[in-house]
Amino acid sequence: MSFFQRLAARLPSRWYASMREETEGWKTGCAQCGHQRSVWDWGGIRWKAKGSPRWRLRCPACGQSNWHKVEWRPGPTGLA
Ligand SMILES: [Zn+2]
Repeated sequence: MSFFQRLAARLPSRWYASMREETEGWKTGCAQCGHQRSVWDWGGIRWKAKGSPRWRLRCPACGQSNWHKVEWRPGPTGLA
């Protein structure tokens, strides 16, 4: 877990559960290979957020640094 996630784990458990569930619903998609990963997997937190930002990330699947689109896509990771 990242620093922020450890911090969040100290919140009341129902807040933490809600925040984690919502964060896992935000997925990043690699422009190069389409690899999907949740914001939680990146060690991030995205809660009460809207829109589809782009983050510059290094994709663990293809090793390229490029812009990953962040989209609200609840459900399991991996379905492009
Ligand atoms: Zn990739």
